This record gives sequence, C-alpha cells and structure tokens, in this order.
Amino acid sequence: MKERMNPYEKSGMYRSAVDFAVDDDGMAFLPRSGEIVNQQGIERIGEQFGVVQILATGLQSTEGEDHPQKMTLFASRGKDNHLHHYAFWYGSERERQREMLIGTIQECPGMYFNLDCGCSQRRDHVVSSVFHQDADASLLLSFDPETTTPYRLPVARGVFEALGIRDVQYLQTNPEYGCDLQRRLTTERSLHQVFYTPDGRIVVKSHDMPVRFIDGDFARMIVYEEQPLSERRSYGQKIKRHYVLIYGDIHDPNKPPIARYHSSCKTAEHGGNACDCRLQREKTLQMIREHGSGILIYADEEGMGLGAVNKFWQTHITISESGDIYKARDLLDMPSDVRTYGLIDVLHRDLRINRVSLASNNRGKKQAFEVFGVEVVESMHLRADYDKLAKQARADILAKIASGRYDDFTPKS
Ligand SMILES: [Zn+2]
Ligand SMILES: [Zn+2]
Repeated sequence: MKERMNPYEKSGMYRSAVDFAVDDDGMAFLPRSGEIVNQQGIERIGEQFGVVQILATGLQSTEGEDHPQKMTLFASRGKDNHLHHYAFWYGSERERQREMLIGTIQECPGMYFNLDCGCSQRRDHVVSSVFHQDADASLLLSFDPETTTPYRLPVARGVFEALGIRDVQYLQTNPEYGCDLQRRLTTERSLHQVFYTPDGRIVVKSHDMPVRFIDGDFARMIVYEEQPLSERRSYGQKIKRHYVLIYGDIHDPNKPPIARYHSSCKTAEHGGNACDCRLQREKTLQMIREHGSGILIYADEEGMGLGAVNKFWQTHITISESGDIYKARDLLDMPSDVRTYGLIDVLHRDLRINRVSLASNNRGKKQAFEVFGVEVVESMHLRADYDKLAKQARADILAKIASGRYDDFTPKS
C-alpha cells in the first residue's frame, strides 16, 4: 500500500500560521547533564517492567504558595511502552529519609474536563491532603494514564528508590480506585482515517464518547492519537494524545461555540501554580457551560510544544533566577514556542468546525484558527486571577504581554 504524502510537507502553509521560532536544524532540546536535569537514577525494577528513569527534576511552585518545591518527571520504559509519571514532593533530602506521606493518582482526561469519573475529585483530594498535612515530607505520585494496575506498584517502588525514600505511609483515597472513562478509552478506539498535521499524523481516533460533568450535564469526548513524524521533533514522545471535549450544538449557525486550544500543563494539573494554565482551563469550562456550546481542546503540547523535560528545565531557571519564561528560554537556547496548531486543521476538517468565539489571549492561536479556515467571530479574553498565582506566573504573564504575542489580559481596576 502506498503511503499517503503529508500535505503539509510541500505547502509550507503552517509556517505562516504562527510566529514561532523554529530551529530547522534540530528541535531536540534533549536533557543535558547537570544538576537541574539529569538522566541518572536508573532503577532496574525487573525484566517484566523494564526500568524507571529520572528524566528531569526542577523547582515548581505549588498551590497557594510562593515557596518552590521540587517536582520530578520519571519515565518507565518497559518492553513496548514509555510512560511518564510525575512526582511532586515537599521536604528536604534529609526528611525524605524519614517516613513520607504518599498520595497516588492515575492521570485521566476526566481531570482536565471536570468529569464525574471520580478522577478530578480524587486529584483535588490528594493534592490538598499531600500539600497541607503535617508530615515531615510528602509526595504526590501521578501515574501515566496508560499505567495498568500490576504495573503501578513496581513503578512506585522504582520512584521511591530513585528518590531515596525508605518508609512510606500511604494516604487513603477512594477505595473504588479505577475509572470507567479510562477503561472506555482503551477499548473505544477505532482506526478512522489518517490525518496529517505539520509534524505528525493522527492514526487513531476514539469513538465519540458521551461523558458527564460532575454536576450531571452531558458532553462528548474524542481522543486523537498522533504519531510525531520525526524523531527530532517528538521530544521523546512516541504518541501524542489530544483530548477534545464537545459541549452542546457546535454547528448552530446562529450561535458559534466557544473554542479553546489549551496546551496540556501537567504540572498545573497536579497542584503547581508557576503558571496560570489550570485557572484558564477552569475558566473556559465555566464559560462554555454558561454559553451552552463549546469545544475544549486539551492538546498534548507540554511546555508550548517543547516537551515536559525542557519545560522542567525552563521553569527551574525561571524560578531560581527570578526571570520569566522568555529570559529562561533564551538562556537555555530554546525557542519560545514551537506549537504548529495542526490539530485545529484536523478538527476543522473532521468535525466541521467553521466558526468559533475564541477563548484565548494568544494572538498566534487566533491567527492559526483563521489560517486553518475557522472564522473567529469574537475573541474572549481570559483574565488572570492574580491572587491565586505564584510570582513566577505573574512575571510570565507580564512578559507575554510585553512580547506583543498576547493581548493585555491583566485585570483592569
Ligand atoms: Zn477518570
Ligand atoms: Zn502551565
């Protein structure tokens, strides 16, 4: 069978969509050795489960505080998978040798859309318990969504070993661990049609699944799995998983839906507040439901497309040097934003999204919707709630506005 050609390959169209700094020579900002990001800590946890490896460790700010704590990104590499797990911990190196309070969650798209599968409540419960207990040290361990039950314990052991944790005390969470949505996600997948994006191709799309918000209202969810086309641009990710939530009638000609292209931010989803991502996502969900129709795209684009490892590194520099996102990326010789928004093109063609009210402060996103044929009838700004943000997040917001890439969305008195 002849492979279809990527239509973007020659057109160069997406390049005009957004003003992003692309280094044609190579976009692989792989972890360098050093104290911030390292590749040590490889822990063998048995033939069956492969290894757990520390990919990156960096400072992050956690909920409600300006005191940065550490977060570590782990990968576990089994025979045919490569999963990412996050560990967010409080306490000093010494305290970690003592008994540590551990709360675990399994990442689930239900957390990104406040669905009633139980995961977002479990996340909130674990985050607040772990970060507000009187323990010497505490740790939030979040498993990759693909982590199956028998795999969790060996991964946890590998993480404890890598962090030097000896005694653990588990936080009791909901005994009905497990989630219906996750089960459906693994079964309700179909090979639909190959869609090309500028840097990947989407080969698997889930069925259109009905899902329910926490307060009982129905929506639909679709998952698109994208395979990056080039090793260099994948930042170690073999599959990108984009979640799309659809609410109400998105084709009503008299009432265009609210749309938001939201880049994933796993640090914010697990209690980090070095950025305003989670607040923006919550605000959008609220706006969509008040409006009656909308699309929330949760795109697998950690760190503006640079990948989780580079994002850890950049956030660490931002916090430790009291800088901002652009200064840190400059210092690290990283481009400021590498997103190409090809998913918008896919949604335009696949879901027939033609007109939207756009919930974004980012001028590049508006331009991308328009370039891909979606008319933006209105731009809705998401105002930052300064009180809830750490000082790094405030610095980043001001830097974004000063860069000219974002509209001024600071609160007006
Ligand atoms: Zn769930
Ligand atoms: Zn963020």
